Amino acid sequence: MDTKLAKQTDFDAIIIGAGACGLMCAVQAGFLGKRVLVLEKNDRPGAKILISGGGRCNYTNLYASAQQFSSQNEHFCKSAFAQWTVEDTVTFFEAYGITGQEKTLGQLFPVSNKAKDVVAVFTSLCDDLGQEIWCDTEVEDVVKVGDVFQVAINRHGSNRLLLANKVVVASGGLPIQKLGATDLGLRIARKLDMKISETAPALVPLTITGKDQPWYEQLSGNSIYCRVWNDRISFEENILFTHWGLSGPAILQISSYWRPGEWVYIDLLPNQNIADLIQQERVENGKKMLLNYIAGLFTRKFAEALSDKLPSYKNLASLNKQDLENIISLIHQFKVKPAGDKGYDKAEVMRGGVSTDELSSKTLEAKKVPGLFFGGECVDVTGWLGGYNFQWAWASGFVIAQNL
Ligand SMILES: Cc1cc2nc3c(=O)[nH]c(=O)nc-3n(C[C@H](O)[C@H](O)[C@H](O)COP(=O)(O)OP(=O)(O)OC[C@H]3O[C@@H](n4cnc5c(N)ncnc54)[C@H](O)[C@@H]3O)c2cc1C
Repeated sequence: MDTKLAKQTDFDAIIIGAGACGLMCAVQAGFLGKRVLVLEKNDRPGAKILISGGGRCNYTNLYASAQQFSSQNEHFCKSAFAQWTVEDTVTFFEAYGITGQEKTLGQLFPVSNKAKDVVAVFTSLCDDLGQEIWCDTEVEDVVKVGDVFQVAINRHGSNRLLLANKVVVASGGLPIQKLGATDLGLRIARKLDMKISETAPALVPLTITGKDQPWYEQLSGNSIYCRVWNDRISFEENILFTHWGLSGPAILQISSYWRPGEWVYIDLLPNQNIADLIQQERVENGKKMLLNYIAGLFTRKFAEALSDKLPSYKNLASLNKQDLENIISLIHQFKVKPAGDKGYDKAEVMRGGVSTDELSSKTLEAKKVPGLFFGGECVDVTGWLGGYNFQWAWASGFVIAQNL
């Protein structure tokens, strides 16, 4: 192996990953007069930012707080969010020409609708501040020898060893290998005897297999506004039926709180009471067939699909107590037992990661390894859908920069 040792005395730190956290960290360090070298496996920075929010980048959420994040320690993210607020994100991007427009539920997107504008803010600031980004550079290992970190890299196909006094692991989570995802953050942590909170795909579609699968397949493409819940949490947004199961925002949200083998419950009519509605309708329109009534509430396609579960061909006046109980339970407590999830290739984030027990919440420095910092998605802090994960990436990048 052709391994050259290069002393990087002119850098204050090496940042692994030119994603949301690493880029923010590089820029904020630059503002403080610190020089960093950013190492990125891909041939360009910000691959995930570029495809985020359907290429429009939902870069924060106006209502973000610790409540929209899951972690073994739900208080851990509070210090970072106090140091870098949503207001800070909005002001930072405005200062560099990105005005936000709010879409549903506080989600902020650039008015231009172009994620590449967000990446351009960072690349041009890194240029101005003299922060170097080495693309096509994969970090293979990090070890600490004495007070110095040795960072083994493969750059344009050749191996080198870099030295650094401080290292920032901002290499993201496991989702989407073709966008550069690696397990480096977890590997480094494991090697240093740091705990990992169990990892799994999150914000991910859920699959249905076996005898129930054709039922979902027939509805592929249909979307319904629902309340989806389990015994941990509840979300009210759309669900989407697909050939292989369920997707859509409400399903992605609940997926972060779902464990294999568990049921998910769906209220198909969250803001109305089906028993009351039928009661009213049968007074005026007792001869109406249940199928037609349900079609009016949803779509004909959906009503027809439900007809194998409901007395759909009875008229409203002839529904008995048992029929009504079945209807109420089906509409307000539709039960689904997913077979699994679509995996890391379809997940927006990874749940779990480097345990928060191992890091200082104030600085994000590893307690056992001074000089080593972890930020962004590789840490056990997972946000809901809607701009929350970027808020964590920006905030953690900022916090680390203050401590380099
Ligand atoms: C399809 C999709 C859409 C999304 N949309 C949104 C959205 O609209 N809003 C939102 O808040 N969140 C969104 N997310 C989540 C968000 O992208 C992530 O939470 C965020 O990018 C995490 O930032 P990070 O810096 O920790 O990791 P990343 O942005 O993933 O950056 C990590 C970087 O490290 C590099 N890397 C990995 N391993 C190595 C290595 N060994 N050597 C060198 N470099 C390495 C990777 O190539 C990558 O560029 C989306 C995610 C996906 C997959």
